[in-house]
Amino acid sequence: MNPPVSKVREAKLEFYRKKGKIHAKAVQGRFNSLRWAMVWLTQVVFYGACWLPWTTETGTRQAILFDIVDEKFYLFDLVLWPQDALLLAVVLILAATALFFTTAIAGRLFCGFACPQTVYTSIFVWIEARIEGDHLARLRLDQGPMSARKLLIKSVKHGIWALVAAWTAISFVGYFTPIRALLPAIVGLRTGPWETFWLLFYASFTYLQAGLAREAVCQHMCPYSRFQGVMIDPDTANVAYDVKRGEPRGALRQSGDKGDCIDCGICVQVCPTGIDIRDGLQYQCIDCGLCADACDEVMDRIGAPRGLIRFMSERELAGQAQVAPAWSRPRTLVYVGLLLVFAALGVWTLNERVLLRVEVHRDRGALMQETSAGRIENSYTLKLINMEETTRQFRIGVSGLPGLRIEGAGEFTVGPGQVQSVTLTLSSPFEGMPSGVQPIVFETVALHDASLAVREKGTFILPFR
Ligand code: SF4
Ligand code: SF4
Repeated sequence: MNPPVSKVREAKLEFYRKKGKIHAKAVQGRFNSLRWAMVWLTQVVFYGACWLPWTTETGTRQAILFDIVDEKFYLFDLVLWPQDALLLAVVLILAATALFFTTAIAGRLFCGFACPQTVYTSIFVWIEARIEGDHLARLRLDQGPMSARKLLIKSVKHGIWALVAAWTAISFVGYFTPIRALLPAIVGLRTGPWETFWLLFYASFTYLQAGLAREAVCQHMCPYSRFQGVMIDPDTANVAYDVKRGEPRGALRQSGDKGDCIDCGICVQVCPTGIDIRDGLQYQCIDCGLCADACDEVMDRIGAPRGLIRFMSERELAGQAQVAPAWSRPRTLVYVGLLLVFAALGVWTLNERVLLRVEVHRDRGALMQETSAGRIENSYTLKLINMEETTRQFRIGVSGLPGLRIEGAGEFTVGPGQVQSVTLTLSSPFEGMPSGVQPIVFETVALHDASLAVREKGTFILPFR
């Protein structure tokens, strides 16, 4: 049952204004529900996706894997190679633009609901609350002297935090080293040096950031809070306190000379960054909306309309009724334009990908040699890169000089995702040919699909006359 407002008013606001660790009061409401929905969504994906198997011609592999050793990124059926770096760059630009767009519409929405720092802090604080109790119990425990009970409680909490941090690190590294191989390697202490480093680093990072540093990361370490100011405008909605409606604040609202804020301080107590939203827009605010949830609860209890604290723009706050809709604001239009352009570029790049790559290297050991039949031979090494997950056959043809031909086999089979080196000997008639270095072209065509073809330039050396 909720405590009466008079009790609420007595809440130990001063506790939260002291410097030191913030123990935010738990709150229920729509923003809190949304925040937990995001925690579940992101963590089910993060902890679960590395376990998804994917069956191909060569067997079953991990569906999502950044294979650094073989320089490939597997995403279900899609396999990206270093040659696809442009696609990766487009995806990163799209993600950044989407973040800017969201910020222009609703401030630090990403920080409040989807940022890993917020998500893991929520999980770690939830664990802390299950073990140590509510915010006041946690505060008392922290301020009390060390005792056997306190030592036990703190040890259990830190132990569980360490386990969560370790599993998070294993899941993270599991996107770079197949997780089904990683686990036995960890158990048998057989992980490689970089895996060991990243496991230790990521586990410590999670433990420190989410367990100990918490809001200090948002306030002092994250650069995003510092430059978000340039991404918002007077029409951007942020969590804000309706000063006109709330002030003058005070307990004697019933007398008619007070605003709707009863100065209970609950909005400060629930704030994970320990700020008072009534002081105006602050860089520490992550737009999590928890103060809005808390204030709505208070408004319900005193019979006032909800929304004293809500998402609202600077214009709305200043009493301007007309708030420009997102589609009519130059800033958001630019972001939408960029999103469309880069999305189209990404789709085009994906469609235009040629799943075959050929590298031609002349054999530097012997420039040329003349055969008894009076022909000139040059040797080459071709690297055939089959970027599909299916075995393919390729036919190589050459052109650029009359009578130029391949001596020996010109068809090769390359396994799925394989890089195969083949040696080729080309010959050309000698008589009537120009002398010196002549340009030629190698054309490699897939037998199953003539549209899968790659032309590579090369040179053929004839005797100098
Ligand atoms: S804004 Fe709402 S929650 Fe905050 S002190 Fe005023 S009434 Fe209480
Ligand atoms: S002021 Fe409100 S929205 Fe901002 S961080 Fe604190 S609780 Fe979240």
